[in-house]
Amino acid sequence: MAATSTKGTRLPKPKQIKSFLDQYVIGQERAKKLLSVAVYNHYKRILHNVVEHPDDGVELEKSNVLLVGPTGTGKTLLARTIAKMLMVPFTIVDATVLTEAGYVGEDVESILSRLLQEADYDQEQAEIGIVFIDEIDKISRKSDNPSITRDVAGEGVQQALLKLLEGSVVNVPPQGGRKHPEQEFVHMNTENILFICGGAFEGIERIIAQRLNTQVIGFDNGRKATVDKNDLLRYVEPQDIRKYGLIPEIVGRLPVLMNLDQLDRKALKRILTEPRNAILRQYEKLFEIDGIKLEIDPKVLDVIVDTAIREKLGARGLRAICERIMNDAMYEAPSSRRKVFHLTADYAKARLEK
Ligand code: ADP
Repeated sequence: MAATSTKGTRLPKPKQIKSFLDQYVIGQERAKKLLSVAVYNHYKRILHNVVEHPDDGVELEKSNVLLVGPTGTGKTLLARTIAKMLMVPFTIVDATVLTEAGYVGEDVESILSRLLQEADYDQEQAEIGIVFIDEIDKISRKSDNPSITRDVAGEGVQQALLKLLEGSVVNVPPQGGRKHPEQEFVHMNTENILFICGGAFEGIERIIAQRLNTQVIGFDNGRKATVDKNDLLRYVEPQDIRKYGLIPEIVGRLPVLMNLDQLDRKALKRILTEPRNAILRQYEKLFEIDGIKLEIDPKVLDVIVDTAIREKLGARGLRAICERIMNDAMYEAPSSRRKVFHLTADYAKARLEK
């Protein structure tokens, strides 16, 4: 039963949401905290507007979220984990496949078709679901000057997306696909759907630096010393996102803006072992099912993390690296009589070099 669907159901408090996130998401403390508050407010708002005080005149406005951070730092994971906790329908869409109606690609409405499918066509549930829109930075305007020929995957898509973000009733083809005249539509209200957008916004540091520099000159000389040049992303503001190429209306509809940190060695190591469904735990489980105890030498973690850092994929690369290391063992071990498989750093290195 969804945590938010009926009166009287308890809505988890920000601290509870944060500790749930802690079980799955390593590091990113600030983002987890901000997101916990944003999600709490979002569902509190639904309860307030819809269930508890439908006509007290105070209409709480919706606050969608924008996560800015390099690939593989946990943006999708955060959104997915929130949805898991709240037991609301959840879907992920890639902004780059969206196009303006009439062009080759997916209509923006297809996002809602998917959410509806995730909710097993329970429209009421879908209407309080969460949508994660990945790579939102890739639909930026290519320059500040609107060009003569509209870019298909650019401002037009942003305009279409805006309708969903701000909350409106949208005609949704329930089975997805292109709209066609004979099709029956579901009229979905996006008012209470939480949109979490994510993007790497590569190069945005330059825009942030520029802004900070002018601010330093213009206002406060003391400020320069406190700005960490290697960590400019944490100073990201809505105006930077606008300058990057998202239209002001979209930026306005994503008022909760936060950055995710690049994961360092320590964080990557923790990701391998600590989360509830940590990758290495999963391998231990897989071996255990065959009656084999998998013993992993701590130095193996260094080998994996070094490789991940070299390949610059953030945590995203970890699983593929583990697969490369474990593949032969997973092929051989189930047929052997050994009850223990000891995984050493040398073995791991040899597999990776193969
Ligand atoms: P992003 O959306 O930022 O590109 P993802 O959330 O898709 O990255 O992360 C890819 C994978 O890496 C996840 O499935 C998860 O296994 C792992 N991962 C990334 N960041 C973290 C993190 N902070 N804590 C735990 N696991 C993480």
